[in-house]
Amino acid sequence: MRRSPIELVKGELRVRGTGLYLDARKKRPCAFVSHAHADHLGRHERTIATRATAALARHRLGERKGSEVLPAAYREPFGLGELTLELFPAGHVLGSAQIRITLPGGLTVGYTGDLCTEPTRTAEAAEVMPCDVLLMESTFGLPRYVFPPKEEVLDAVKRFVDDALSDGATPVLLGYSLGKAQEVLKHFGELGYPCRAHPTVHAVNEVYVEQGVPLPNVSLLGPEGPSPGEVVVAPPQLARSSAISRIRPRRTAVLTGWAVDGAPWFRGVDASFPLSDHADFPSLVRYARATGASRVFTLHGHAAPLAKELRREGIRADPLEESAQMELW
Ligand SMILES: [Zn+2]
Repeated sequence: MRRSPIELVKGELRVRGTGLYLDARKKRPCAFVSHAHADHLGRHERTIATRATAALARHRLGERKGSEVLPAAYREPFGLGELTLELFPAGHVLGSAQIRITLPGGLTVGYTGDLCTEPTRTAEAAEVMPCDVLLMESTFGLPRYVFPPKEEVLDAVKRFVDDALSDGATPVLLGYSLGKAQEVLKHFGELGYPCRAHPTVHAVNEVYVEQGVPLPNVSLLGPEGPSPGEVVVAPPQLARSSAISRIRPRRTAVLTGWAVDGAPWFRGVDASFPLSDHADFPSLVRYARATGASRVFTLHGHAAPLAKELRREGIRADPLEESAQMELW
């Protein structure tokens, strides 16, 4: 085989020679949705996704007439035309999945979607997806992106929270409304801290609870604001909203892998912590090796540097390019 089995067509991924798209944004007849973050989500006629991703997608996009969801469980292979598909947990957010596509000739092609190999409290733990060809994300695909162990980061966030509370200020933790917010709420709620979730986060929490992820000690942040001793969790883009800015005194911290760079675009926060729901650079390299893939394509973020490092490891790797330039093998 001389060509990549997955092609990039006008920015969207398609299994070559089939109608199956992967994480397409535009409406497609049939697409696999790896998880419910907006940059992976579209309104398709037929959607292949885990039940949790389907529920989160319904929450984000609303009920859709004329659309069909084919709910898929992890590690239960099923047929789609001439293809055999199998999902593996990706550890990124609740319901997130990798997909392995077995082509009619038997070649296996894996697509990671967004991947986090560190254990989490609110998402199914990532599993290695053995495959011949791997298409992997490279969000943090630069050698400088090395995250400390998650427990160390959470301990540092706890010290920040305790310091704020002992000074009589409300700690406000900023994390994406789907995934990061639930991870931090689960952590602090289970430690016994009363937590308040911004309405945007609270709406996603309800789906998590419905899908079997309890979030104890967490309640909705109402117009009355938090009581003394409570921890507030909100999305970063709403840090300056009236619901947050009227909390006084407060101390804010943003939780993001980009904290390794100092999270420079988050002006006005008191602290940043590298709590990520993506794999760091060494984890991406380890993961690629663990799949046993002899051919790797990288996409999103720092695709070229990651491919370069994989080549140094003896794995044939290239960034995935638009289809016209893809006659690589
Ligand atoms: Zn994502």
